Order: sequence, then structure tokens, then C-alpha cells
Amino acid sequence: MRIPFLDLKAPHVELRDELDVAYRRVVGSGWFLLGPELESFEDEFARYCGARHCVAVGSGCDALELSLRALGIGEGDEVLVPSHTFIASWLAVTRAGARPVPVEPDERTATLDPALVRAAITPRTKAIMPVHLYGHPADLDPITEIAREHGLAVLEDAAQAHGAAYRGRRIGAGTATATAFSFYPGKNLGALGDGGAVVTDDADLAAKLRLLRNYGSREKYRHEVPATNSRLDELQAAFLRVKLARLDEWNDRRRAVAARYLTELAGVPGLRLPEVADWADPVWHLFVVRTDEREQVQKELGARGIGTLVHYPIAVHRSEAYAGLGDGWDLPIAERLAGEVLSLPIGPHMSTVDVDEVIAAVRSVFAGDRTGALR
Ligand SMILES: *Cc1c(COP(=O)(O)O)cnc(C)c1O
Repeated sequence: MRIPFLDLKAPHVELRDELDVAYRRVVGSGWFLLGPELESFEDEFARYCGARHCVAVGSGCDALELSLRALGIGEGDEVLVPSHTFIASWLAVTRAGARPVPVEPDERTATLDPALVRAAITPRTKAIMPVHLYGHPADLDPITEIAREHGLAVLEDAAQAHGAAYRGRRIGAGTATATAFSFYPGKNLGALGDGGAVVTDDADLAAKLRLLRNYGSREKYRHEVPATNSRLDELQAAFLRVKLARLDEWNDRRRAVAARYLTELAGVPGLRLPEVADWADPVWHLFVVRTDEREQVQKELGARGIGTLVHYPIAVHRSEAYAGLGDGWDLPIAERLAGEVLSLPIGPHMSTVDVDEVIAAVRSVFAGDRTGALR
């Protein structure tokens, strides 16, 4: 591909010297887990989010699952999740022993529809999990209000939304009971491997998370609960500290790419552009368009050297992992989105020339022009 969907080398070339220093510092220290880099990263990321506490763990999926466990959610409980999301949002609920109950999104933002959230609440409901999908915050105020009325926890899946803001408040700054992040390499803040974190203002919840990520242990060889091992290691913490210092700048570069797409692709017949709600300052983890001709468009963009991906091609309830469980679920919006969404290249290291090339290619594909294709 002349323009790959995402260039994961460029960010690390830009930061090579600083990453080298971080690597040497950790290797030289001989301390690889639960050490000073983790502590510093947790402080820095909590401060970045505007939260009191940060507990970093092994992945975004673990951040969600351990948050649910720390909230006391498990067997017999229901958690409301978006029908349209990455499967990890649901898997975390399943892994915690609870039941994911899908709620359809508002099609304009592909995030939880608060009116449908209210309708899905049962006596077993214990939590609501808004997912800030594609980096666009869900409508948190009405969701929080519903949660308050029913005594439910709100656990944000912010795996795609580091630095995004809801009505001027950064995601994680008291926007929910707890907020889970992923540092998977392709995320806006990505490690050089797996990683995740939970931020919260609740000191007890943070203490429980620290217990759950480390064999249920606070003191060496004393184990209070039969928990797992899920820790962000010192190397990843050190790398993430380097990259966190760039996050705002890199999110701004994503915003610039998105702004150009939004103006230059407006009005292309057959192409539906992403909408930004008035409450949202998104961070454009993905730039997701919709079209009835998704397969054809993807193929023709590929022929022009433009890499695209689909997030996500199979609605979660149609996944083999949920076979049987989903009988009787009628989720037409999730299925429609799965059939129509297409993610254009976006990232902090795309040049203006690259962006313009994508724009020209998209326009030519939608104009039905076959001659622009590479042969
Ligand atoms: C990436 C992602 C996760 C899971 O994070 P991992 O670090 O890969 O475990 C969860 N939810 C969403 C929406 C994601 O995009």
C-alpha cells in the first residue's frame, strides 16, 4: 500500500532517542515489574486524565474486567454494553462472570443511545459501559443520570479515547465511576506491546484494583483474594511516559487530518461521513465513513494504494464467541453498521500530501472512475 491504514513505525522513529534512553534506564536498573517507572507513569497518566488514581494493568481488556470485579460485579449480574463495539468490551463482562446486555447505538455517533439504555435496565443490571468508540465520547450526562437514578456504576471503555473530552471535561476526569484505557500499540497512546489502565477518583476501587492485578496481594506472600496477574511492566511504563508527553500534539495532528477529510469529502454522493455531536471533542482514533458499497469501495481504494480496515465487520452478537447466547437478540443497527463502516487511514504521522491523496482516491472511487486504479 502506498498509504497504509496506519504507520506504526513513524511514531517510534520520531521518538527513537527518547525510547532508547528509557530502555537503557530500565535495563540498567534491573527492576522490571511494579517499580518506579510504573509509579511515575500512573501519576502522570492520572494527572493527564484529571483523575485522582491510576492503576495500570496488562491490557485494556483486563482493565475492564478487573474494574468490574473490583466493583463487585459477577455471576447473575447484567452489564449494559453497546451492540456496536470491539468484542473486548463484551468479553470483559463475560470474563468477570456477568452477562453483557447489548444496547443499540445512536447511529449518528455510533455510541450508546441513552433512551435505549433506560429501556434495557432490569433488576439485575449493575453497570453501564459506554464505549467512546472511534475516539468520540458517548453522551455521558443522560447515562450518568440514569445510573444515579438506579444506583448503577458507570464504567467507561475509553480504549480509543485517550485525551477526548465530553462537554469540555477530559474523559477520565470524574466522568464515570471508573474509566478503562488500552495501550495496545495502535491506540492513540500505545505501548510497544500490550498494556492498559484504569483511572478513578475512588480510592477504595483503586486499592482493590491494585490487589486484583497482583495475585490478590498487597504484602509479599499474603494473598487476600484469589486474583490474577496483570501488571504493566517497567519497560512499557517507561515507553508510555515518553509517548504520553506527545499525546496532545499527536491528537491535534489527528484532528487536522479529520478536519481535512470532513471538509474535502463533504457532499460526495453515497458516502456518509462521521458526525461530531455538540458535546464531543473527539480524538479521532479512527475516521469511519459509511457506504452501502463497502466491499467494492475498499477494493477500489486498495487498487489505488490506499489501505483501509473495517471496525468491525461482524456484529459482536454474531460472533462465534457468543453463539447461542445471542438467540433472540434483535440488533439491526449493529448489523447495519457492521455492513457499512469503513475506516480511512488516519494517524499523527500522515502528511498533508498523503491525506490529499486519500481524498482524491475516495472522490474518484465514488465518482465511479475506474481509470485511477493502479494496475
Ligand atoms: C482495544 C480495545 C479494547 C481492548 O484493549 P486491549 O488492550 O487490546 O485488551 C477494548 N475496547 C475497545 C473499544 C478497544 O478498542
